[in-house]
Amino acid sequence: MSIAAAIGSVFALYSRTQTGYRACPMNAPQPKPWILGIHAYQPGKSKSASGKPLVKLSANENPLGSSPAALAALAAARSEAATYPDPDSRDLREAIASLYGLNPARVVCGTGSDELLNLAAQGFAGPGDEVLFSRFSFAVYDIAARRCGATPVEAPDTDLATDVDALLANVTNRTRVVFLANPNNPTGTFLPPSEVARLHAGLPSDVLLVVDEAYGEYVDPALQTAAFELAAAHDNVLVTRTFSKIYGLAAERIGWGTGAPGLIDVLNRIRGPFNVTVSGQKAALAALGDQAFVAAAREHNAAERARLAEAVAALGNHGLSFTPSEANFLLVHFQGEVSASAALEALAEAGYAVRHLPGQGLPDSLRITIGKSDDMTRVIACLRTLCGEAA
Ligand SMILES: *Cc1c(COP(=O)(O)O)cnc(C)c1O
Repeated sequence: MSIAAAIGSVFALYSRTQTGYRACPMNAPQPKPWILGIHAYQPGKSKSASGKPLVKLSANENPLGSSPAALAALAAARSEAATYPDPDSRDLREAIASLYGLNPARVVCGTGSDELLNLAAQGFAGPGDEVLFSRFSFAVYDIAARRCGATPVEAPDTDLATDVDALLANVTNRTRVVFLANPNNPTGTFLPPSEVARLHAGLPSDVLLVVDEAYGEYVDPALQTAAFELAAAHDNVLVTRTFSKIYGLAAERIGWGTGAPGLIDVLNRIRGPFNVTVSGQKAALAALGDQAFVAAAREHNAAERARLAEAVAALGNHGLSFTPSEANFLLVHFQGEVSASAALEALAEAGYAVRHLPGQGLPDSLRITIGKSDDMTRVIACLRTLCGEAA
């Protein structure tokens, strides 16, 4: 055994103990040490501690469900279960390109945008390289970096928002990929196009900037295409979108990305050959065709998010506040007599699962997905009651 391998094995055993992983004997298969550094993604909960089912306001799903056209396409696709899907998602890529004014050759589809985020890290970073992102951003970036053996690097935030100067200050000659969620999850903050352009302009041209726009369709329509233009003009920008959020198709696992041909080529080499299912391709195609549903979802979200924000602001004297959000959730802070844990418990008691992220450094906050109107009314009433105010 080489010295490096010996150190690796010792490190593997050590980190396994640290994470509470079942220690396996030395003659069992040994995972790569960087794999043991991964904390598996924690999905949003839908049950209380006692097992009672809750309304899920913990995973940023669309409370309006899916477009009826998408549901009809899904039902029709059931008869095609015996055939492989189109490996190139051609019809879907063409429809995406046509709707957003892109070149279909510069579009790739993925098993959720999650697959594309992981492939972007894997295609461009490895052991010895750094993958950079902001503190309080999407948990998948850390996992994507570690999965390929790269080192995740977190830049400090400013008031929970992405700080372009801090990101640029953390670029080293080892940085290969920078992830930016815009709007950001879990904070909901949004960097205007000028700031994204400034970030890009400050990066070396051989560093890949991934702009993750999972919530891109919720922002002001006038600001929705700026990142696409950046990706069309430069060889080092990949923009990702998803059908999981505003399009209401999270169960089908469909995401897509656009960027320079060289980037798309790399992702095509390493993605799953049949990575988007028959039903997924058909449902997404139908969903794209129902922009009335998308507009209704955006309007519902904006109105209910504003109502929740106003209600939280009215409880400011009880220590509640929020971070301004352009996404389909609101990050609410609890810095008075009512703690985030107490609010989490009270909301569960009232039938609602929201997201508490102490593991991500946000012990005093809850991320609340914007739900149906009557659910938001009950969430607001619950918060008011908890603060001793009339519901
Ligand atoms: C929800 C989310 C995604 C989408 O993941 P899918 O794999 O497409 O379902 C990507 N990025 C961020 C920041 C998200 O919050």
